[in-house]
Amino acid sequence: MFSRILIANRGEIALRIIRACRDMGIDAIAVYSKADEGAAYLELAKDAICIGAAPAAASYLNPATILAAAEVADVEAIHPGYGFLAENPTFAQMCREAKIEFIGPSAEAMQLLGNKVEARRLARKAKVPLVPGSKEAVESEDEAVKIAGKIGYPVMIKASAGGGGRGIRAVHNEAVLRSSFRHARQEAEAAFKDGTLYIEKLVEKPRHVEVQLLGDRKGNIVHLWERDCSLQRRNQKLVEESPSPHISARTRRKLCSAAVRLAKAAGYYSAGTCEFLVDEKENFYFMEINARIQVEHPVTELITGVDLVQWQIRIAAGEKLKLRQDAIEQHGHAIECRINAEDPEHNFRPCPGRIEQFIPPGGPGVRVDTHAYAGYMVSPHYDSMVAKLLVHRPTRREAINAMRRALEEFRISPIATTIPIHRKIMEHIDFVDGNVDTGFVERALDTDLRST
Ligand code: ADP
Ligand code: ADP
Ligand code: MG
Repeated sequence: MFSRILIANRGEIALRIIRACRDMGIDAIAVYSKADEGAAYLELAKDAICIGAAPAAASYLNPATILAAAEVADVEAIHPGYGFLAENPTFAQMCREAKIEFIGPSAEAMQLLGNKVEARRLARKAKVPLVPGSKEAVESEDEAVKIAGKIGYPVMIKASAGGGGRGIRAVHNEAVLRSSFRHARQEAEAAFKDGTLYIEKLVEKPRHVEVQLLGDRKGNIVHLWERDCSLQRRNQKLVEESPSPHISARTRRKLCSAAVRLAKAAGYYSAGTCEFLVDEKENFYFMEINARIQVEHPVTELITGVDLVQWQIRIAAGEKLKLRQDAIEQHGHAIECRINAEDPEHNFRPCPGRIEQFIPPGGPGVRVDTHAYAGYMVSPHYDSMVAKLLVHRPTRREAINAMRRALEEFRISPIATTIPIHRKIMEHIDFVDGNVDTGFVERALDTDLRST
């Protein structure tokens, strides 16, 4: 096992990984930018190294400085967390050359899966159903018109390199296809330095259901069941839960085995997630594999009792996966609300600033993953997520009740947060009935969730 690990990330996920290291008796070395100097979680690390200025490009996204820090700190491995360099195959390759273990999948698997056109090709080969769409990248507007006509409107234009809900455009008719295609290309080039696009059918009223995977370097792969992440705004997740309400046991089994099949075809190891869309008739379609630990991984940790971050570390150290598929069960129901420093009253604009009052909820079945506290300064430089609030109860109904109670207890002021929106969602009849799809939040924000 490793004795020292560097954490190439910040905020709640850095703290989550520090905790895993401490639980395992490993020294965690943190890194921080000027903006994160003095953050309390850094004190829980064995050591913390400044890696540069506040903008991510000058610190958390700079592979050379992070590797230099890793060498100075004399670590055996680097955990990239999520976001930043987590899905960057070049960084994984640089780690390999520096003889430092990258805690994640191989650079090759990451390269393959980071390209959604390639990932779709692989899914086709592994006989995993995928959204009908272009087989290759779509090169020109003319080609886009032809393909969209063949698939039938509405369609989605998507960036092959896309992530974080960006680079996705719904197109409802041919009249706007050309301009949408042009804009999507510009967006993709600006955001991902790669303008490669593809087109797929827009699945109407889908649920987003994803399967958690864990694989070792010897080819053993297990799934840890699904998470339903249908509650999204602008293709970004707000609430996640497990089990998924309203999918049959048969669909659940089929989804999970398709995910394992695909991961095997990709030569995948470490933790990863296979994302699907599920339509009203419970047809499911492969969307993408996220080659990293996900924001919502604690949902799965709660219902299975498996510590995913510890397993990522063990697998990177060459350990064999000791989990047997038939011993991994779903116990009870878990829900996560992402609490962001955003103002729901003003179109969810980010609200950085100092937190004066911070009283997290507690009690039976509550887990709060956060790096924030009273006196903490939410930086404008990074993601606006300040806490993940989770509950775990025997049934979905009880989990919803516990979440309502926990949201009511949670005090964060004076900055605006998304707590009020989560409270309304937990009261919404359609959410309570599990009667939701990926459009639910935005539809409800236009009507029932609107304030006053
Ligand atoms: P999850 O499924 O883990 O919730 P998200 O899509 O919300 O994944 O992304 C998690 C984090 O990673 C977010 O901070 C998001 O901005 C970032 N992220 C994901 N993919 C990319 C990408 N291709 N480029 C830049 N950031 C990304
Ligand atoms: P990202 O890499 O940004 O996470 P995904 O391909 O996972 O991109 O899609 C993000 C979200 O966009 C999905 O969870 C879903 O809500 C929506 N979406 C993507 N593709 C489609 C589609 N073909 N039809 C309907 N919704 C889609
Ligand atoms: Mg996705």
